Order: sequence, then structure tokens, then C-alpha cells
Amino acid sequence: MITREGKICSFCGEPGSKDLQLVGGLGAQICVSCVDDFHAILHDPEEMAARKGTFPWDTMSDAELLATLPQIMASAEQNTAFAHEWVDLLRERSISWAEIGRTLGVSRQAAWERFARKGGDKTHTA
Ligand SMILES: [Zn+2]
Repeated sequence: MITREGKICSFCGEPGSKDLQLVGGLGAQICVSCVDDFHAILHDPEEMAARKGTFPWDTMSDAELLATLPQIMASAEQNTAFAHEWVDLLRERSISWAEIGRTLGVSRQAAWERFARKGGDKTHTA
């Protein structure tokens, strides 16, 4: 079952909780704080104009860049885990490995090797 339990905000890295609800899609999660911040930026033409052509990392120190790397990796790992949960959901609905592979543009065997859980779904014949 896919839940938001234990997930982090993909934009600030804060873990979701009862007090910090997350919403998301395609594996990315976002907290209300980030929604508010990005909404304000996106709806402020002056702010958008000021940011045009610049990126937050342009002004970050080396220490800030380094400190951000584990958050990027945690977000990437969360997305990879979500893809596995999604494939589990497909398999629970009896979608074949062949169809999953076809959707991803890989062979049935390649899809199975990438997503089958060790000790779990071993039905790579379907
Ligand atoms: Zn956030």
C-alpha cells in the first residue's frame, strides 16, 4: 500500500508529520510551507523577473551546496522507492511484467530485474 508515511518534502527535505502535511504526485512530495513559498514567488511578477536567469545554487556557498547533497539523495531515493511501490501496485492489479516492461521501453526480464522484490514477487513469467 502506498502511503505518505515516512516521506519527506521533496523541496525542503522536512519530514512529513501530522503538523506538516505533504501532498504530491509522481513520487514528489511538497509541504504547505513550500507550496506557500513557491506560490508567492510564481504569482509575483517582480519576484519572477528578479529570478529570471538565476538559480538558487548560483549564490550558495560551497558548504551550502555540500549540505544540500544528502537532501537531494534522500529525495531521489524516495522517488525510486515510490516507483517500486507503484510497480507493486500494478502487480497487485495483475498487470504483467511484459506490460510494465513495454510501458518502460524495456524487456519483461529487465522490468522484473529492476523492480521485483527479493523474496517477494517472483512471478516473472506472467
Ligand atoms: Zn517543504
